[in-house]
Amino acid sequence: MSLLCAEDPNVLELLDDAGIELLWHPAISEATGAEANATLESVLSGEAPLDILCVEGSIVTGPNGTGRFHILSGTGRPMLDWCRALAPLARHVVAVGTCAAFGGVTAAGGNPSGAVGLQFDGSQAGGALASAFRSRSGLPVVNVAGCPTHPGWVTETLLLLAGGALDAGALDAFNRPRFYTDHLVHHACPKNEYYEYKASARQLSELGCLMEHLGCIGTQAVGDCNIRPWNGGGSCTRGGYPCIACTSPDFEDPQLTFTETPKVAGIPVGLPTDMPKAWFMALASLSKAATPERINRNAHSDRIEVAPKPKRERST
Ligand code: SF4
Repeated sequence: MSLLCAEDPNVLELLDDAGIELLWHPAISEATGAEANATLESVLSGEAPLDILCVEGSIVTGPNGTGRFHILSGTGRPMLDWCRALAPLARHVVAVGTCAAFGGVTAAGGNPSGAVGLQFDGSQAGGALASAFRSRSGLPVVNVAGCPTHPGWVTETLLLLAGGALDAGALDAFNRPRFYTDHLVHHACPKNEYYEYKASARQLSELGCLMEHLGCIGTQAVGDCNIRPWNGGGSCTRGGYPCIACTSPDFEDPQLTFTETPKVAGIPVGLPTDMPKAWFMALASLSKAATPERINRNAHSDRIEVAPKPKRERST
């Protein structure tokens, strides 16, 4: 559904322009169930070549490793089997979304269905496919993680793969494309000025930074969500909701609720990953003491109450 929101170009135009023929997609294709199953069979028989296999959703392995909790309708065969049969035939395999990459929300809590990702089970290598699996191109499963994943991350990955421009060096430790995971969600967040002064929101409707009290982990979460906003202008933090690191394995089981910051002795546990704690605390107390009144007032309001005063233009 996120992919359908791709803009300029939309997903169908983009695939056309890139010369990518869409064999089948459950929400976009007009094929009947029987026709879709025939397409899958023709791939299995080698009649239809499969360049890119995209899998959405976690792979269910229960009960007892059979995968029979999730049968592909009309085939009598578990999705687990289908993935294991199709993946070695594909030139590239792409896990679309955090569920397909790592198990995601379906694997939360006790995980009664035995949900795993295609090649990871949470942060552990090895899922529905073994950790040693490589597609025909020699790449592991490419994990376009995100919950949901950004439409631009999917289309850019497909274009790079189709153009032969995505190699192992372009993937990070969890096999996510680095074009979006070399950034933090914190980069270009419109609340950056509040963060600088630790002017923190105390409830979701307030404009201040969401890190200190409301669970935001954008300083540790990978993603260019605020550099490449969604649907022309949005992101979680732009909408006033904390970043919950949905691109990361195991994000689905936070220590507290998603909108609470875990603290020890009043100090947030999840500080920026590449900053010593003592430095952070020293800077935080200094910047809190120096917070301008404008920022302090606006941080605790649901709209701008005090506008910035631009320097008076010099008269000539
Ligand atoms: S709300 Fe989150 S992402 Fe935005 S500035 Fe604060 S910590 Fe960074």
